[in-house]
Parts: sequence; structure tokens; C-alpha cells
Amino acid sequence: MNPTVLIVEDNEMNRDMLSRRLERKGYEVLIAVDGEHGIEVARERMPDLILMDMSLPVVDGWEATRRLKADAALQHIPIIALTAHAMANDRDKALEAGCDDYDTKPIELPRLLAKMEALIGTPGENQA
Ligand code: MN
Repeated sequence: MNPTVLIVEDNEMNRDMLSRRLERKGYEVLIAVDGEHGIEVARERMPDLILMDMSLPVVDGWEATRRLKADAALQHIPIIALTAHAMANDRDKALEAGCDDYDTKPIELPRLLAKMEALIGTPGENQA
């Protein structure tokens, strides 16, 4: 079975582009448009990995990550934070919030895929 990735991203263009590119790589993609929606979809669908934009409406990515990591049923799901600016302290902040890794936008797909694969393996490989 292909790994399922939840993209939490409020920008429609970013969301569509990233989901198309990940689907082409063999991932099953779920979408959420704000932090609260992201938590809801995570709870319903139990994705293998979450890509979390940090700048989100309703509940931002920082808070959504903290809530996911505080939830015993959801805290095992790896989260990669995505932020728009390569601020040195964003990385520390993301890890502090509970993110498993961190990357910056604009997305460089090979770099992001390497981080995803480090956490959940390659699509097509047997998933544990
Ligand atoms: Mn955003």
C-alpha cells in the first residue's frame, strides 16, 4: 500500500502543485486547508506523514503540531514543518513544537522527498 501523506496548506496553488508531484511519486495525498482541519483529517485518516505549513488560518501550524503531538492517538505521526522563510530559529521552533523535521518553501522536491523517505521509507518499499 502506498504511504499516505497529509498536506496541510492554505495556499491553493502550493497545495495543488505539491499534491500532484507527490502523487506522481506514488504517495496517496490527503488535503487540509487550515490547522484545525488538519487535526480533523489526521484523526479520521491516520496518515503516515504530515507536511505542515506553519502559516495557516484558524489554527496555525505551530499550534496544530503541538496539539497533534499532545494527542496519544496521533503523536506517532511524523510531521515535517514547512515555512516560507529560512529563518535560523524557525528550525529550532519547529522541533520545539514537536515537528520531526523541517523544510523551507519554495519546495525543492528532491530535498523534501529525502526528508520524507528518512521518516517513512520510499513508496513501493514494504511499510513496517
Ligand atoms: Mn500558509
